Amino acid sequence: MSIQLGMPQPREEAASLPSAPAARPADAPAGLADRYGRRATDMRLSLTDKCNLRCTYCMPAEGLEWLAKQAVMSAEEIVRIVRIGVEQLGVRELRLTGGEPLVRHDLVDIIAALRSNHPGLPISMTTNGVGLAKKAAPLKAAGLTRINVSLDSLHEETFTQLTRRPFLNQVLAGVDAAWAAGLGPVKLNAVLMRGINDAEAPSLLAWALGRGYELRFIEQMPLDADHGWTRRNMITAAEIRELLSTDFLLSADPRARDGAPAERFEVRRRVAGSADDAAGPVLGTVGIIASVTEPFCSDCRRTRITAEGKIMSCLFSREEFDLLGLLRSGASDEALAQRWQDAMWIKPKAHGMDHVGLDAPDFVQPDRSMSAIGG
Ligand code: SAM
Ligand code: SF4
Repeated sequence: MSIQLGMPQPREEAASLPSAPAARPADAPAGLADRYGRRATDMRLSLTDKCNLRCTYCMPAEGLEWLAKQAVMSAEEIVRIVRIGVEQLGVRELRLTGGEPLVRHDLVDIIAALRSNHPGLPISMTTNGVGLAKKAAPLKAAGLTRINVSLDSLHEETFTQLTRRPFLNQVLAGVDAAWAAGLGPVKLNAVLMRGINDAEAPSLLAWALGRGYELRFIEQMPLDADHGWTRRNMITAAEIRELLSTDFLLSADPRARDGAPAERFEVRRRVAGSADDAAGPVLGTVGIIASVTEPFCSDCRRTRITAEGKIMSCLFSREEFDLLGLLRSGASDEALAQRWQDAMWIKPKAHGMDHVGLDAPDFVQPDRSMSAIGG
């Protein structure tokens, strides 16, 4: 069961971690700071828990029980929460996600309102791309900066097996439309599943490089509603690098990572029979988001708001703190900012997945799926 308290409480952390104060001290740093010296500036806001795909690593085949309409943040509430984040708490970057953000009928209006309030704010969106072909140009016109589209396979059958919906062509049309509308650099997210699409990693990368898209592989995380994830079965970052090495040479991208979840590599094609340094020119970059095996918690800059306005300091938090309820009770901007700061102050040091046996009984998977949190 999720704990949904009015006031933040300390999370139960791994025994090896130091115990922490429950309350944010008066002299805590400004903004969305935590006890470990991090400050969240990157806001992930979920617009809806609904989705029109059923990716096996995220949702069950039968879907989930959707939130009631009135439980979900309205456009006005979203706009106010983002304004508080940006104006009072140091948020510098916003990503809209879900569920599937494109299923929200007022999406373009929300983006236009956010853009009008925050002319310089980078606003990006993560989408499955279904229906994007029609919406890409209006989204750009409304002020969306950039887009990430999830694409796990270029083969119709495999795509349908993974998403349980036959929409590959729609997604491909959406990716191209996003590029044409100026929503670049277009990033593609792929989750590799053993025995299903893992062998496709090099051809997926070749396809993305050929079109100037930046592909990012995301390690499968234990955030599926079916609780089918296992450590043994997930494809690790090390395996992804190995899979790609048959066709490509990867070298560390010299640009600073700067808190980004993806570790980026420059990609050159491997020239058959040649030494590494005889390989061809840099074709582009690939990212690997290794949340499970090479976590980046110590440099995490994210704060999350779920579709029903709950603050989550970490994808793996088992506590959520109600911002929307407080807002609807008539609270001031200052009171809302204070609750957000309190919730972030007790952000856990790390999700702990890297140092416990994940198949062991002491690893407790969050109750919510990725779609319900907002990935
Ligand atoms: N529906 C949109 C989409 O799929 O792009 C946005 C929400 S989705 C939850 C955001 C990202 O989370 C997607 O790129 C998806 O592949 C990824 N994702 C979902 N479940 C995951 C899991 N169990 N492990 C790793 N990534 C996951
Ligand atoms: Fe929907 Fe995205 Fe989850 Fe797939 S990953 S089921 S598209 S929310």
